[in-house]
Amino acid sequence: MVNRRDTLGVSEDMERTTGRDAHRSNISVIHALAQTVRSTLGPKGMDKMVVDGLGDIVVTNDGFTLLNEMRVRHPAAKLAIEAAVTQQDKVGDGTTTVIVLAGEVLRKAEDLLEMDLHPAVIARGFRTAERMAQEILEDIGEAVGPDDDEIITRIAHTAMTGKAVESAKETLASLAIQAVRKVIRYDGKRAVIDDDGVKLERMVGEPTEASTLMKGVLLARERAHPSMPTRVERANVGLIDQPIEIKDPEIATRIHISDPRQMQAFVEQERKNLAEMVERIVASGCNVLFCQQNIEEPADDFLSQAGVFAVRRVPRGDLVRLAKATGARIVSSPHMLDAAYLGRAGKVREETLGKSTFIYVEDCEDPKAVTLLVKGSTAHAAEEARRALEDAVGDIGSALTRGKVVAGAGAVEVELTRRLRERARTELTGKERLVTEAFADAMTVVPRTLIESSGADAIDQLSLVEARHERHDIWCGFDVVSGQLVDAWEAGILEPLEIKTQALASATEVAVTILRIDDILIGDAPAAESGG
Ligand code: ADP
Ligand code: MG
Repeated sequence: MVNRRDTLGVSEDMERTTGRDAHRSNISVIHALAQTVRSTLGPKGMDKMVVDGLGDIVVTNDGFTLLNEMRVRHPAAKLAIEAAVTQQDKVGDGTTTVIVLAGEVLRKAEDLLEMDLHPAVIARGFRTAERMAQEILEDIGEAVGPDDDEIITRIAHTAMTGKAVESAKETLASLAIQAVRKVIRYDGKRAVIDDDGVKLERMVGEPTEASTLMKGVLLARERAHPSMPTRVERANVGLIDQPIEIKDPEIATRIHISDPRQMQAFVEQERKNLAEMVERIVASGCNVLFCQQNIEEPADDFLSQAGVFAVRRVPRGDLVRLAKATGARIVSSPHMLDAAYLGRAGKVREETLGKSTFIYVEDCEDPKAVTLLVKGSTAHAAEEARRALEDAVGDIGSALTRGKVVAGAGAVEVELTRRLRERARTELTGKERLVTEAFADAMTVVPRTLIESSGADAIDQLSLVEARHERHDIWCGFDVVSGQLVDAWEAGILEPLEIKTQALASATEVAVTILRIDDILIGDAPAAESGG
């Protein structure tokens, strides 16, 4: 089939939308996405059930999981989902908020377009509004220090309120705090956290309350040889990232094997070289060895005879975490393995649970990488617990690194709206003021949605909250658990400032990007073309 093309050479098989229609279409897609995830927001958020093409069912009230499971195809929706991914990467919580905010900011954009404002003017206005909003948020945030136990605990609780793991909230919160405290570093006054410092591993078969913090690393690997010890106490850990093998090309090419004795000599030489490598390893004092590549036979046997616990083909990421946990340095060959490069672990052991075998490298003295073993009696329960704990870990980490906290339950958003409107009124005029006010109003989608989720009347309750803010009750919010207006700070509904600043930045970015697009070209999916 010959595709007809228009003057630009764009295939007529492509669906093309331009100008005002492009905006309308993109906005409605993101708005629809926001409407879908919206009802999962907050402790009283509803669950969603997603059934994939294979009939697998996922039930969740986690906005991020939902977005991943929905497999949306529209480019505008993908753009919004990317913003949620950024949120997840940078903060680890607040993904639903990003989408809900983006949807609402764009709904305001739609109104402004209807009033014949130019998309570029709206986009510019949103940028100004966002900058002001960021300044206001920075100003509202309260300082939190590394030793503010009470606040940090509240942040962890808030992250998990209303989730499936609610009953194990206290245990999980304390694990999350201990984990983050282990891996945080202070660079002068600034706190820094390694991205892979805290790893969460699911384990099915025990209740979530039995979750634990391992001062070390868990590997889904087995020992290199069955006669190696299954357990080593006071481990001296060596890390090698090159194969333990004979790969001297000279030996391989120099020897033309013509008679069996030469062959024998060659094999002998190889054994000898491997034996030497193992001797070097043992001489360094290493009794536990992790190799990123292969450990060639019979080196594994030699190691085993020397009583060394060795593991081959350890993924790079795990090797790096082992270095952080034990203090070992990764070297490239046994000849470089020096006592000074070995790390320490109180205990290294192999254990089989059901069908899987794991290696525990634990009781490290000052680990800069730790592992949270998140348990659940079913796979679903373990996964829900993992997600909730991941949110808590992300929130504690970002509270400590950014050093600022706000109160949630809609309090921070209502206060932001109030102050931003105030600044728009006093500092801006004309269209800029109009756009900034619209942007400010969009922020109230968070409290409105939270109030609705509890079954209360959003208009009534929101105006009560707003009235309290007018009287400088800056942390007044709506507690969905009690169904009442509260001082969210006093009620301990606390969140890291960064959830809000990042969500605002991402949502604005999505809105501005959409406003800049005036042409959408969508081709058929390749699969749909077959048979034609
Ligand atoms: P997200 O994916 O955006 O993190 P969540 O489902 O975790 O979404 O909901 C977070 C929102 O719930 C925040 O706005 C937070 O302030 C709010 N929240 C948490 N606890 C309460 C509470 N007890 N009452 C009202 N809102 C709450
Ligand atoms: Mg959350």
